[in-house]
Amino acid sequence: MLTRRRFISAAAASAAMFSRIPNVFAATYDLLVKGGRVIDPSLGIDAVRDVAITGGRIAAVDANIAADSATETIDARGKIVVPGLVDIHSHAARTKEGPPLCLLDGVTGYVDAGSFGADAIDQGAAIAKGGPNLGRLLINIARTGVAPGGELNDMSRADVSLARGAIARNRDVVVGVKARLSNNVAGTGDLEALRRAQEAAAPFDLPVMIHIGQSFSPMRAILPLLKRGDIVTHVYAPAPNGILDDNGRVLPEVLAARRRGIVFDFGNGVADHFTWDVVERAMKQGFAPDTFSTDWNTMSRTTGVVDFPNVMSKFLMFGMPLDQVVARSTVNAARVFDAFNDRGTLNVGAPADVAVLELREGSFEFLDNYKGTRTGRQRLVPVATVIGGKKAPPRA
Ligand SMILES: [Zn+2]
Repeated sequence: MLTRRRFISAAAASAAMFSRIPNVFAATYDLLVKGGRVIDPSLGIDAVRDVAITGGRIAAVDANIAADSATETIDARGKIVVPGLVDIHSHAARTKEGPPLCLLDGVTGYVDAGSFGADAIDQGAAIAKGGPNLGRLLINIARTGVAPGGELNDMSRADVSLARGAIARNRDVVVGVKARLSNNVAGTGDLEALRRAQEAAAPFDLPVMIHIGQSFSPMRAILPLLKRGDIVTHVYAPAPNGILDDNGRVLPEVLAARRRGIVFDFGNGVADHFTWDVVERAMKQGFAPDTFSTDWNTMSRTTGVVDFPNVMSKFLMFGMPLDQVVARSTVNAARVFDAFNDRGTLNVGAPADVAVLELREGSFEFLDNYKGTRTGRQRLVPVATVIGGKKAPPRA
């Protein structure tokens, strides 16, 4: 409903503003997400708003858009409405069941981080393209992809020319290169693996994501091999060779890396990737992750990951404000990869990817990777997802 006051102010406003008025009168939105608390850090919004969608794109974010102006409505009263979640460390493309399953958790965009190397990247690309979400891949520098026993224990698998060929064949889907550097994956070859990952990425100007923790080499040797825009995942991996020194202080080299534009990502995972102790020490020093991610696979509902909103809730427990938690799961993540530059936002004109979450109050137990439990007072729960303007089926 356009009030007289709003009409006058709109009429007096810029041409761009004026051009939105026909939408209000047309009364033909495809979908309206109505009455929720919209939190979109990309727009600085945290208020009860309606989100109107037409033609697969965000048409308006406003207070009191008439319910009968839309063909279909999602009642979001009492819920949190955020841009579709972007999970930059996932393994959703491992099987074709992955993408539609994580979509139900609110994940409208994901990056499969190294499930596939040169040998099978074409198969991963087909799964990513076939799914409903915006799916992209990091190619593992090891031709085998993630492999039991450690894919880089035989360094001949880190074949730069094979990786380059695989990227060239799949430029539309491959958005970077992954190297897992822990001792049980790369042994003493961690720095060499990273050098080869950079060599593979360089001709395409793509970022490299490294998985850290329990590596042979210390962070002060690893970090100089990273360039602006590269990503460190499993940021809170415990010693040896995590981000903390022997006294529990964040290493100066880590702070320096952040200053020069290296991205530090959470990467929940299942084994060896974080302890509550490291999270607590780093958070107390103000070293929060730039992005949250799950290291998800189709089994994650039965592990400490559960779902992306559960991972977000772990940081509510450490006192991070909700809007900052949302930022790290939406706009911050979308900015890491060019392919997501129109995601992580409810800006008018953006693809209509929306996650509806419920913020439950109570007593909730959260798990680290060492069976450590902590109890939080809030849990974000996925309720509904919209992808490209279409409602995803309800979560089972
Ligand atoms: Zn992973």
